[in-house]
Amino acid sequence: MARVVGIDLGTTYCAVAVADRAGTPSIVRNREGENITPSVVMFQGDTVVVGSQAKRSAATAPDHVVQFAKRYMGESNPIYHSESGTPYRPEEISALLLKRLKEDAELMLGEPVEQAVITVPAYFDDVRRKATQDAGRIAGLEVLRIVNEPTAAALAYGLDQSSADDGGEDRADGADGDGGAGIGTVLVYDLGGGTFDVTVMRVENGDYTVIATDGDRNLGGFDWDGAMMNHLNGAFMASGGPDLNEDNVLQAELRDKAEIAKRTLSNAPQAVVMFSVGGRHEQIRVTREKYEEITAELLDRTRILTEGVLEEARLGWDDIDRILLVGGSTRMPMVPKLIQRLSGREPERGIAQDEVVALGAALVALDASVRAEEAQEKRKYVGSGASVESSPGDGLARLTKGRVRSIKDVTSQSLGMVTTDLDNHDHQFNTVIIPHNTPVPAKKSDIFVTLYDRQRRFRVQVTEGDDEDLAYVKTVGESTIEIPQHPKGAPFEVVYSYDVDGIIHVEVKDGTTGKWLGEFELERPGNLSQTELSEFSDRVARVPTL
Ligand code: AMP
Repeated sequence: MARVVGIDLGTTYCAVAVADRAGTPSIVRNREGENITPSVVMFQGDTVVVGSQAKRSAATAPDHVVQFAKRYMGESNPIYHSESGTPYRPEEISALLLKRLKEDAELMLGEPVEQAVITVPAYFDDVRRKATQDAGRIAGLEVLRIVNEPTAAALAYGLDQSSADDGGEDRADGADGDGGAGIGTVLVYDLGGGTFDVTVMRVENGDYTVIATDGDRNLGGFDWDGAMMNHLNGAFMASGGPDLNEDNVLQAELRDKAEIAKRTLSNAPQAVVMFSVGGRHEQIRVTREKYEEITAELLDRTRILTEGVLEEARLGWDDIDRILLVGGSTRMPMVPKLIQRLSGREPERGIAQDEVVALGAALVALDASVRAEEAQEKRKYVGSGASVESSPGDGLARLTKGRVRSIKDVTSQSLGMVTTDLDNHDHQFNTVIIPHNTPVPAKKSDIFVTLYDRQRRFRVQVTEGDDEDLAYVKTVGESTIEIPQHPKGAPFEVVYSYDVDGIIHVEVKDGTTGKWLGEFELERPGNLSQTELSEFSDRVARVPTL
């Protein structure tokens, strides 16, 4: 059975895990022996340095270092230009990270790693999911599935809980309705390095169904670092020091120190930060209390999103059976304190916050490889005339299927279409076709009519967002198709489908003739073309990653 790895491609850290055939996941360390790899890439001439070494250099060579690529996934602008002027898009930077993770995993596992399951925040839209898939491809990985991070976390917890509860052999059937073992409604609060994500899901007899999800891709530990930076810099300037933000190197050093102080405050009531700049030495003391005060607004944004998701799910805290904290930033005491205040209960933090997503991804990866093996076995047995039921793949599949019977995600964004008012062609509005929080895979359609007699073309502009007003939605792709000529008002059915990886497919049917006009490719300005994909794959394959 080929090894399929689970990868948590985080904004600030990545983790890789594999599950053994019995369904126990474990972290695959990187070549430096670390469980997590900083999502930092440093360009050094023709070579690229990835991980801790690059992170350490962020302060000394900030102009050669690229971080937080995940925040820009799905945007078409380059986020870095090499010294020779080569532009790098977010997918390529992520691919360089993935390439290094792949190489490290191969080194540690002693076998080639060609397939992976990669996680993304649940609210990642189609463009960002496709960009993540592309990053995997550029890195030379076949991406079997894109899985939502909270779903992966819940999978890892479900497993952990069942071993704790049942202890024995039977625990493999995980959530089997005995009240323990991962059954019930789970809220996953995931505050990572760059993103916040909150999800309510139902876990029942091995089915993982997302009920509602929301998040903010610009809210994470990075912003808490920013608040600490402002505070430290303000205090340094108040004591007569220069503005540390005026110089790239000093600013990077400030960021480093701010992050360390933040982590210190997770364990200690105060932190002391030393600055020596231009002959000026200063010690700045920050208390946890002060830090909580200056970041209260950030934490409150997570509260608003969390309550919004509960409301969307039409649930109260009493309906939530388990609350999971995921992401390195939930180590800040203010997070469990907030959850405790809101829910009246202690959240769970049984598995290392920064490993839990990768561990869950490894379970999905195992499931994917078992299914692939099973399919192959079936083909073999059918081919030889033997009974399909007795194929050896079944025994193996039972092991994982008890836990990961199915993963049912929902769409995180509403998908709609730009619509022109029949009576007033100057008025355009958004028509939602697939509402947000619809279980995926989803397929829904709506009828639109032609505006003119003998209209030759039909334009489909796919939108993301709920609002009818186009000013408040985003156009994620468009295509114009040739249509048979009919009188004005001829109906055309537009069918949107959202596959399990969150990728959108659009089909159009001529309502007059009943003929399908075919499925078409969305032109998504945020994503790479086939030519760019292969060009970038060649480039990334050639770059030595250290
Ligand atoms: P993740 O992407 O989930 O690994 O989260 C990384 C984020 O967690 C970064 O912003 C880290 O600074 C933050 N983080 C990790 N450990 C701690 C800690 N002990 N206290 C506060 N923040 C932490």
